[in-house]
Amino acid sequence: MKSRLGNLRLYKFDVASESDVGVIIITYPSGLSVIEKIQLTRYTGRRRRRGSKAGLSKSFLDKVHWSFMEQQYSNIDNQISDYIVSNFCFKDLDIVPPACPVLVFHFHTRFSEQDHVPEDNITSIARAVLSTLRVRDSVLSVEDALTKCVPIAPPTTEIVDCYQGSELCCLCGKGYPKEDEIVHKTRCNHIFHATCISRYLLRTPQCPICSVHLPPVDIRTLLFS
Ligand SMILES: [Zn+2]
Ligand SMILES: [Zn+2]
Repeated sequence: MKSRLGNLRLYKFDVASESDVGVIIITYPSGLSVIEKIQLTRYTGRRRRRGSKAGLSKSFLDKVHWSFMEQQYSNIDNQISDYIVSNFCFKDLDIVPPACPVLVFHFHTRFSEQDHVPEDNITSIARAVLSTLRVRDSVLSVEDALTKCVPIAPPTTEIVDCYQGSELCCLCGKGYPKEDEIVHKTRCNHIFHATCISRYLLRTPQCPICSVHLPPVDIRTLLFS
């Protein structure tokens, strides 16, 4: 049975003592969740040279691949890293300031023939993040955690689940949906195959249809605004 990426929701979790991490939660259709604590930075212990660009942390992507390779959900990890690479920018995050919130990426997956992904239950998100962070920090209760977990808006593109339309993707000239491909909607409301728009945005950070500027979102913007 084929499973595919259905959706992503982003949260900010305000815990100062775990400032160098993000959390990835992947919810599978079986009800199973995989939760991984990840380092969001390429921490070198010293300040970057002026003008150098950290780009996307390789260790972050390696961790994504490594974590989900073993699951029996073959191409999910590629879909996730494509999404992250084209939507987020990690530059200037080599050194994370103290009291930086944790970023929570909650990816939902579903079987190809299922219609939709469930709504997030914020309590279970808070609980999952808490149990992941609790390794070093055991002072927070679930009630406290709930007040510290805030949904944030989707970045440059959004995963559109179960999209059906008669138009063609202007980048490859093919229709929707191809069975194991997901569809992305840009902030300017244009639809493309996920792989087509991800590759395009890496080279040219603007919408192929309306030319609106679509740069990857700097992680700092999400964390500190
Ligand atoms: Zn396409
Ligand atoms: Zn557009």
